[in-house]
Amino acid sequence: MAEKKWVYLFEEVEQVQNYVCGEWENVRGLLGGKGANLAEMARLGIPVPPGFTVTTEACNAYLAGGGTLPDGMWEQEIAALHKIESATGKKFGDGKNPLLVSCRSGARYSMPGMMDTVLNIGLNDNTAKGMAALTGDERFAYDAYRRLIQMFGTVVMGVPDDVYEDVLTAARKKAGITTDSDLSAKHWRVITREFKDIYRHHTHHEFPTDPVEQLKLATEAVFKSWNGKRAIDYRKAAGIPHDLGTAVSIVTMVFGNMGADSATGVAMTRNGSNGEKQLEGDYLTNAQGEDVVAGIRLTKDLNELQAEMPAAYAEFEKIVQKLERHYREMQDVEFTIEQGKLWMLQTRDGKRTAQAAVRIAIDMAEEGLISQEEAVLRVSPEQVDFFMHPQFDLEATRNARNQGSLLASGLNVSPGAACGMVAFDADLAESWTKKNGKSVIMVRPETKPDDVHGMLAACGILTSRGGRTSHAALVARQFGKPAVVGVSSLNIDIGKRRMNVEETVVQEGEWISIDGTTGEVFLGQIATTVPDIKDPWLLKLLGWADKFRRLGVWANADYPRDAARAREYGAEGIGLCRTEHMFFEAERLPIVQKMIMSDRRLDQIEALDALLPFQREDFAGLFRAMDGLPVIIRLIDPPLHEFLPSHVNLLHDLADLKIRLKHAATLSDIDELLLEVQTKERILRRVESLQETNPMLGMRGVRLGIHIPELTTMQVRAIFEAACEVAKEGVDVHPEVMIPLTSHVNELEIQREILEGEARKVMDEKGMVIDYKFGTMIEIPRAALTADQIARQAEFFSFGTNDLTQTTFGISRDDAEAGFLIEYMERGILHDNPFATIDQDGVGALMAIAVQKGRSVKPDLECGICGEHGGDPKSIRVCHELGLTYVSCSPFRVPIARLAASHAALEAKRRKKGE
Ligand code: ADP
Ligand code: MG
Ligand code: MG
Repeated sequence: MAEKKWVYLFEEVEQVQNYVCGEWENVRGLLGGKGANLAEMARLGIPVPPGFTVTTEACNAYLAGGGTLPDGMWEQEIAALHKIESATGKKFGDGKNPLLVSCRSGARYSMPGMMDTVLNIGLNDNTAKGMAALTGDERFAYDAYRRLIQMFGTVVMGVPDDVYEDVLTAARKKAGITTDSDLSAKHWRVITREFKDIYRHHTHHEFPTDPVEQLKLATEAVFKSWNGKRAIDYRKAAGIPHDLGTAVSIVTMVFGNMGADSATGVAMTRNGSNGEKQLEGDYLTNAQGEDVVAGIRLTKDLNELQAEMPAAYAEFEKIVQKLERHYREMQDVEFTIEQGKLWMLQTRDGKRTAQAAVRIAIDMAEEGLISQEEAVLRVSPEQVDFFMHPQFDLEATRNARNQGSLLASGLNVSPGAACGMVAFDADLAESWTKKNGKSVIMVRPETKPDDVHGMLAACGILTSRGGRTSHAALVARQFGKPAVVGVSSLNIDIGKRRMNVEETVVQEGEWISIDGTTGEVFLGQIATTVPDIKDPWLLKLLGWADKFRRLGVWANADYPRDAARAREYGAEGIGLCRTEHMFFEAERLPIVQKMIMSDRRLDQIEALDALLPFQREDFAGLFRAMDGLPVIIRLIDPPLHEFLPSHVNLLHDLADLKIRLKHAATLSDIDELLLEVQTKERILRRVESLQETNPMLGMRGVRLGIHIPELTTMQVRAIFEAACEVAKEGVDVHPEVMIPLTSHVNELEIQREILEGEARKVMDEKGMVIDYKFGTMIEIPRAALTADQIARQAEFFSFGTNDLTQTTFGISRDDAEAGFLIEYMERGILHDNPFATIDQDGVGALMAIAVQKGRSVKPDLECGICGEHGGDPKSIRVCHELGLTYVSCSPFRVPIARLAASHAALEAKRRKKGE
């Protein structure tokens, strides 16, 4: 049997592809992102220093074997090293022309700063001297040598870095200079000796002078860093599996610190903030890679390189363009120029803001790099969400950073920007918000179910502990609150009501700003902006998305202004207008209450008649806003007691009145108070008579319309009078009347008779014909299961997935979300909140039955969804698969739904192609 291959030279990427069946993702899996891209660059003929990669499989075998290198691995590594020696003409450990290498970690997913890299391996007293002679630059050779001892010590042997840094500080002080680059060769030789002493002192070993031993220890150290605490914590938080392992890339060292014709830098092929197509970066002349990011020296703008080293710059420009074309993605690269010769050290897909992501996708499609379909798929619905929420102004954020206001960073678990005063407990957060109208950021070490009321009141949430699936993160995402969690540098002293990051102390009540999109926490207030939907690139992207989707996107809107907004955002209809919202308005509520309070039919009808003109006006406005598009109006749904004062409040008021009565001074006062007591008592009796144990399962929905048919008649009349009125104005009107909470077809039959009778009556009176539909919500399992019977009486279905989830699970949403549901998610009993994402196996199965049975009777039955799920990307995918006609969501989520519906269609198409 052939020996397992643990090591691949960069030029062997084709063999890797054969091994992993050609899938690029699997190449990344085996070689890590860094190794895979280095090999790929070498294959493309881009100058990469010769090197090889030890696979993630080797790492996993090493860790599984309790720290023994798998059979054959080390021999393969040495063999590969010899190949590099012949490629470079240098020799590892050679005193005349020594080969130096870096040992670099790299996993499948980028884990910035979590694992280790050692530079300049191969240096010892002998080779350092050789390097000095070879380059004629003793200063360079000893700077490189001390870096190796320092990095080897900290990374491989766990020597604390500050001990080394103290030596550097002391040396600078003694020499009377401020920057390392001013230290001379002599300084570095002395420092090298001191560093070796530190190494010996902390490890009880001599610094290993054998380059082969250095390489072996460094390789093992990178393997081990996969299971370092930092890396494990990061993976937990970022949801990266723990069994992937890291690869190790061994790369010939090239030197940007070999004089004025050498440099090192980083660049991005496009602007990561706004997406503009423009090569941007920073570099340093005469410096080694880490110096650019370390921020020790002031870096130069990449533009200056063009003047400083025109040939190298021109080549660099060509290479990054080639990389962009090859990966068809914006690239983030690291490079070094050694005595005029350009070397590429890393390339990867660049990080970007949502705005940049949209613009880059559009630009790349227009440049012919990617198709329109791909451009649409590259922007996530969450990124579109970004355009709908306030964000910190970019300029203001930059200024804040420059002024040192960045306090700390943590995990960006729920997007959006928030400024507020720090409150360290839920009760305070709630009372400051509700009573004093303050903006509050609730700050806790971590949150518990008891904290939810404070979290809901606060405009943002910050915790020092916890990961992406912590209680705080779950609650924040669920309620759309910006949140940053797991800010480990933050110390919270609840007792002293203050927190600190090192020396910086923030007292309770002081302002902070948190950015849930980036995970940053700032001192003070930062100005916010709403990046609007009118962004021309976003509009274009959504236009493309529309071409690929099959699902319609409608909106839930109760008022004309919401309908107009929904339409502006691209809604193709109103999927839900809740008529009861109209009943709660100040001038109408007394009439509604009168209707509920009266025992006599006549009084009820009188009250309903008084409500009619209000409703008619509401509907007319909605129809005008949706000229030419369907508008679904749902008849009254909530239990009637919701329109009356609460039982507790009434008892309280009555007790109050009775006390005042006792102390009343004048007869007229007594009369007045008595009257008030009588009224309240009457209301109390009514409230008591309406009281139900489970009102959400009680007298509501269609049951109300059956109990008080005049309610249905009045609402239908208002709808049709309004429709006739606006039709006369020339508006193209398509009302669809919807009955809520149906569970039995007989309910629908009764309502339909009333409804159609009244509709005909109005149309006859006005001498007009209105194009309308009559349908029902499907939100009770029984309705879904008997959808074929129901479809005989209904022209459309609309899934009310909130009630359908409650009745399918047998849980009440309010109780669940404030209580056990969070625990269920924390413990993984439920993966998602079923009220945020459709439970595909249960609720989704009922929906499938309903669609199938309904359409068996009426093949083109309109089936939509009007619950909050209609705006949730994962649920939208389910709706696409179920073959629904449309999803209806809040106006603000319409753009997100348009993109998500498009993704669902494109992904389905890809899957089909793949079959
Ligand atoms: P990270 O993943 O933390 O960016 P890298 O492996 O990319 O770690 O190494 C850090 C820096 O070291 C890089 O920015 C690069 O400039 C420098 N470096 C790594 N390998 C070499 C090499 N062979 N020659 C010169 N510089 C190198
Ligand atoms: Mg790097
Ligand atoms: Mg409902």
